[in-house]
Amino acid sequence: MNLLIVEDEIRLADALGEIMKEQKYITDIVYNGTDGLYYAKNNCYDVIILDVMLPGMNGFDIVRELRASHIATPVILLTAKDDVRDKIAGLDNGADDYMTKPFVPEELLARIRALTRRQGDVILEEQNFLDLTLSLSTCDLICGSKSIHLSYKEFEIMKLLMANQKSVLSKDFLISKVWGSDSNAEDNNVEAYISFLRKKLAFLGSHVMISTIRKVGYRLEDASL
Ligand code: CA
Repeated sequence: MNLLIVEDEIRLADALGEIMKEQKYITDIVYNGTDGLYYAKNNCYDVIILDVMLPGMNGFDIVRELRASHIATPVILLTAKDDVRDKIAGLDNGADDYMTKPFVPEELLARIRALTRRQGDVILEEQNFLDLTLSLSTCDLICGSKSIHLSYKEFEIMKLLMANQKSVLSKDFLISKVWGSDSNAEDNNVEAYISFLRKKLAFLGSHVMISTIRKVGYRLEDASL
């Protein structure tokens, strides 16, 4: 399980990090809102633990920005104020749960387990195509004994390509699914991520290639044919 902790109280953040390590969870820890948003948007986590009062950008704004960017990673807000309005604001902005400080770590761990169980009910564990496996829980792309971690957008694009194996996916379709139809992403954003994915496929030595169908889009194919 991959976790992100965004908390500016360094001692609390590091203590949480230690607790997660004991659970064998892989944890990134950042101490301000700006880094928190950047990490959350560019990596793939199972759960984000997000303080509300943060330098740079507050937790409400971060979770709203994530949801606007179609990032559905479960978020647990940490709020210092035991104020009903804060809790409502947090949930309204797209958070999944909240904890009021101070809290006992066991309760936080229980809530993390509850959120990831709920996710596990609705999603498949992995997708496969030829020699390639995409882990939907860790965002790792696996081929034989090799594996490589995908960034959030690489993962979303690969998931779409693997879920639509017979279809050619247009750049417009990928933009609307991965960036959102109201985004100002352009064709060259898609091209950049396809090129990252091709490099990762080459690293893995997979038989799968992403072929370009001119003026139409992209499709997965068997390069060994
Ligand atoms: Ca704080």
